[in-house]
Parts: sequence; C-alpha cells; structure tokens
Amino acid sequence: MILDIKDLHHSFGEVNAINKLSFSLEQNSIVSILGPSGCGKTTLIRLIAGLEEVQRGEIFFEDKIVANVKFNTPPEERSISYVFQDFALFPHMTVRENISFAASTKKNKKQLIDQVIQLSKVETFLDKYPHTLSGGEQQRVALARSIAVQPKLLLLDEPFSDLDTNLKREIIDDTLHLINSLDSSAIVVTHNAEEAMFLSDLIAVMEKGRIVQIGKPHDIYFKPSNVYVASLFGEVNIFESIIINKKCDTPLGLLETNNFRDNQKVNVVVRPEAIKLNVEKSPVATPNSGVVVDSKFLGNNAIVHLTVIDSDNNKHHIHSKLIGEFLPSPASSVSFSLDLNHVFIFPR
Ligand code: ATP
Repeated sequence: MILDIKDLHHSFGEVNAINKLSFSLEQNSIVSILGPSGCGKTTLIRLIAGLEEVQRGEIFFEDKIVANVKFNTPPEERSISYVFQDFALFPHMTVRENISFAASTKKNKKQLIDQVIQLSKVETFLDKYPHTLSGGEQQRVALARSIAVQPKLLLLDEPFSDLDTNLKREIIDDTLHLINSLDSSAIVVTHNAEEAMFLSDLIAVMEKGRIVQIGKPHDIYFKPSNVYVASLFGEVNIFESIIINKKCDTPLGLLETNNFRDNQKVNVVVRPEAIKLNVEKSPVATPNSGVVVDSKFLGNNAIVHLTVIDSDNNKHHIHSKLIGEFLPSPASSVSFSLDLNHVFIFPR
C-alpha cells in the first residue's frame, strides 16, 4: 500500500471536518475524491500532505507510520507533492527556475528537469514569470513543479476548476499520461464526476467528513450507495414512496424490489437516461405515458420535459434524456419504458 489511513478525525473548533475516515490506496493507482463543498476534501489532502497535525487516527505511507496524535512527519520528508487550486508558484522565479528549484536536491537534476519540461509541455514559456502566464499555463507549471520532486504520491486539490472546458480536457488528458508515466500514485480532489471517471481507477465519495462509498467508477455509477452518490453524475428524478408487498408506487409506475420490508419509506432515484420514450399518435392510458412539455437539444443527446400523472392523479414534472436528436414537440403524447440499470431505491 502506498497510503493507509486509519480512523482519522479532525475538528476545527465545533466543526468535525473529518469523521472516522479510513481508506487505503495501492501503489500506482489514481483515486478521485468527490463530495459536496465543505465535506472535508481539502482537510483530508492537507492531513495526508502533513500540512495539518493529526488529532486522532493514523496515517501510514508505504507501510510506515508518518503521522498520529504524537508526531507528524514534516511534509518535505513524505515523498508527497501537491498542487492546490491557486497553484502557489514562486512569483519571483521564472518557469524554469520554479521547476529547477523543485528538482534541486535530486542527483540527476539536469536530466530530470529536461524530462519534466518535455512531459508537461512548458517549453514555450520557460523564461516567463508566473504572473504573465494564462491559467492553463500556470496549471502546467504547477504540475511540472510537483513532479520534479519525483513524488511517490501526488495530491491534486481541484487543479482543473478554473480552466475552460477544452483546455481542461487537454490538461486532464496530459495529467493522466503524466501520472501513468511517472510510476506514481495520485489523489485528485474534484467536484466533477465525469472528470473523476476519466482520471481515476477508484472514486471515493465523501459526505460530512466520511467516505460513504469507494469503488471503481463503474460500481459507483451502477451501484450507488445512497441518493447523493446516485445524483453525482447529473440531475435525477427523485420520488418518495413506501414499500407494499415488495413493490413501490411511483409516477413512473410500480417498481418491484425484494430488498425492503413492508412499510419501509423509500426514495426512488430515476436517472433521466432510464426513461425511454416513444411518441404516440394519441394519448395512452396511464401509467407509463405522459405529455411532452418541452424538448431541448444538447448536442449528442436531448432532454425531454414531461408531465406524468401518478395513481393519485397528481401531476409530476419528469426529465428524460435520450441519445441523439429526439425532439418531440410540446403537447405530444408519449409512452415510456424504464431501463432499471438506472433506477435505484434507497431507504428514507
Ligand atoms: P470545498 O469543496 O468547498 O473546497 P472541502 O470539501 O474541501 O470544501 P474543507 O475545506 O476540508 O472542505 O472544510 C471542511 C470543513 O472544515 C468546512 O466546514 C470548513 O468550513 C471547515 N474548515 C476548513 N478549514 C478550516 C479552518 N482552517 N478553520 C476553521 N474551519 C475550517
């Protein structure tokens, strides 16, 4: 294991930023940490880096303890490097000097610097100062500087959040190749689930100072452990219901489940992509039918807004997402079927 965290707690006064948090990271893997604002992501990264002292719990690096309540190995002795959102480049040094400074204690310094410069694509602005660089260029320099120390673990705290979409894709792609070519492991904090899926072997989802689910992107997407995890990948339709005879009634029809006892209150999460639509010539009997309110073209998919009526005659506004250019006109009648791979039932 490159990193092993055991039962970590961390408070700022009354605020429990990290709460009974444990997780391990294998060598040469990339984990993304996803979670709402204030759930403790940066605090966790700072504890791993050694920038915060451990109040309770233990942190092991390559099976050796680096921090517990009694001692804290200083950041520079952890073979960890980090890139924070504000990049924190040395303003009085050129790009070349920023990178050289990071590599200054390394034996193969000249060769290492040349390699880092090439890998991180900063050749064209080596003699510039940070304040004269664009956000994307500063991002590349911050990455270059962080890998010039040849860390075993790279910590990236929302490094891509300020970049525009195209530049972001390019830099994320480059970062991924960079990490893979370095024989390093990485922890990447992000708010963006797609970014996390693209970058990482594992996704850890945090809520209120805890990791509520950790797994491969495929498992996090198809086997989410709660409503929050299920909603990470885009907006969802959520209905409250109750289990009766192993079924729950929703505006999209009766759903069967063996996982709950009778009378259990549940939340039903239906991703828009679960709802497959067919345009009908005339209105169809409920359930499994609705009326189109609007259709929006989003490029490679379309969102259709529908009104459906539940078994108590209440109206519900539903979103369906379809691949391609499917744009039924307002007031069209539609019938639908559900892809149950995108439907989840959680206790309430
Ligand atoms: P964001 O996504 O907004 O960056 P986060 O998940 O990184 O949030 P943290 O920055 O780790 O969250 O903060 C966790 C909690 O601890 C928050 O309630 C925050 O207000 C609090 N907190 C963080 N740092 C401090 C500090 N130095 N002093 C007091 N409270 C703090």
